Amino acid sequence: MPEGHSVHRIARQFALHFVGKRITASSPQVRFAAGAAELNGHVMTDAKAVGKQMFLEFDNGLWLRVHLGMYGAWDFAGDFTADAVGAAPTDSRGEDSITSMGAPRVARLRMSEQETAAPGGDVFPPEPIGAVRVRLLTDNTVADLRGPTACEVLTPDQVQAAIAKLGPDPLIDSPKAGEERFVAAVKKTSTPIGLLLMDQSVVSGIGNVYRAELLFRARLDPHRPGRDVPEETVRALWKDWTKLLKIGVQTGRMMTMDGLRGKKYEAALANREDRHWVYHRTGEPCRVCGTPIVMELVAGRKLYYCPKDQT
Ligand SMILES: [Zn+2]
Repeated sequence: MPEGHSVHRIARQFALHFVGKRITASSPQVRFAAGAAELNGHVMTDAKAVGKQMFLEFDNGLWLRVHLGMYGAWDFAGDFTADAVGAAPTDSRGEDSITSMGAPRVARLRMSEQETAAPGGDVFPPEPIGAVRVRLLTDNTVADLRGPTACEVLTPDQVQAAIAKLGPDPLIDSPKAGEERFVAAVKKTSTPIGLLLMDQSVVSGIGNVYRAELLFRARLDPHRPGRDVPEETVRALWKDWTKLLKIGVQTGRMMTMDGLRGKKYEAALANREDRHWVYHRTGEPCRVCGTPIVMELVAGRKLYYCPKDQT
């Protein structure tokens, strides 16, 4: 599932290439035909991400809310920014960077959990492929959404209500206010911190990878009840999430190891297995103490941690 950094990068793509433009909206799949008709012909005026959700505003006051969920993705064609923030490191496996395709430019870009070249040719606008829930088209750029968990048109009041349900996002909330909201939400409950970090009403944008890595970086036992986590640790968690999210938006990768230089940094950019402390490393030796990393199913999701360092 795309974590917060991916959704911020997608919102950035819309800010760069759709905001200020008149949009032709349609639902090739038909399922969203009524919603698309409400947006069709209007100018996009804002694009922002809050956690894992994206909100696109139009000049008739309506918003499009999109949550990609597990399977959703946006395909861009025409004029788009291959790397939404300008950094262009390579990825040897081609799994999260289109810059690794060797070509200076790809015709179509798919943005989801990873960023990859999407199928299709150079014709503009391309024929919609598969079940496209909504197509947003300008004179120069087209974005096709498929497979989202949520895709709906909202009024400003409804947008406010939707955002109010979400925990703070370090790139949206003011740093201090966000930190206070996070601390209050964690300290009032006996729910384990490993679950709280995944709860989008506690903090926005953290998914399975960032959860495991943040807990390891804090050397924190995932099972410890929120209210038993020392306040300074909770504050440090918030600051660390802020830091990792910014790096994620910048690099397009969930880079969670600090202090990597030269070849090690390049390897980390290129390979998922070289950039995480514990995520997806079941049975492999902890990079700090050598103890095999443990994987445990918690609320149906895989939780990775070091049983020695995180006690
Ligand atoms: Zn360890």
